[in-house]
Amino acid sequence: MEIKAKKSLGQNFLKDEQILSKIANSIPTTKEDLIIEIGPGTGALTKHLIKKDSYLIAYEIDTRLKPFLTPLLNNKTTIIYQDFLKANLEEDLKPFSYDNIYIIANIPYYITTPIIKRIITIPKLKSLTLLVQKEVAERLCASPNSKAYGSLTVYLNYYFSLNYLFTVKNTCFAPTPKVDSAVINLTKKPKNTKLIDEITFFNLISAAFSMKRKTLKNNLKNYNWLPIKKVLDKHHLPETIRAEEIPLDLFIELANSIFNYN
Ligand code: SAM
Repeated sequence: MEIKAKKSLGQNFLKDEQILSKIANSIPTTKEDLIIEIGPGTGALTKHLIKKDSYLIAYEIDTRLKPFLTPLLNNKTTIIYQDFLKANLEEDLKPFSYDNIYIIANIPYYITTPIIKRIITIPKLKSLTLLVQKEVAERLCASPNSKAYGSLTVYLNYYFSLNYLFTVKNTCFAPTPKVDSAVINLTKKPKNTKLIDEITFFNLISAAFSMKRKTLKNNLKNYNWLPIKKVLDKHHLPETIRAEEIPLDLFIELANSIFNYN
């Protein structure tokens, strides 16, 4: 069977069996867990996931792939032909009884952030494994003081422990993309007990990074600087600090100080 890959849907199919097996084995599921695969394509990874004998729901937007995916169906595997972002997850998950949810996605870059935002609140979510362009993987896993560190990194670090697992050469895909990819794992953290108010925290992050290369003070012109200065002084940090230099814990402390001051 042949299929003309659609670039607009990010259709670069992974064909290296060793890598496919390595990705499937990086997810520590049991028979009582549920795997959600986003974008199964021709089912190359799906076949390895099915071997794990967990429950599996795969969302594929392109119905042309039905002839590849239908033969894979069994009593624990469901395939839903729909844009994952438009899926009614709560409804789709209802028929299943499971311990934990593991999500795996080899997806185009432009839906990475909306997918992460969509799945963050799913009950019983254990981890998200993403195969993305190497550059995107590095950005998502960035540390403070690196060029790639931004509001998304802080947001992700708040919810997940991030791990860069391994690089996948572009030659492992057909058609061959221009750049290499990488597999990263995002494991859900227990709810943060130090943070007092999430809204204050999220507003602070988005304002702090609003203009690149500007100092925190410049980006937080609408904030009362006093509670912020108090925290910076406590850590012997200068008022000229930029958001790119601030780790998650310090953002949490700043948000708490702002919240308590108001
Ligand atoms: N998992 C397969 C593999 O590794 O070879 C295919 C990966 S391919 C990079 C991405 C797949 O995601 C394609 O099959 C594409 O049709 C599908 N896709 C793209 N956007 C989607 C969306 N919003 N919802 C569900 N599937 C999507």
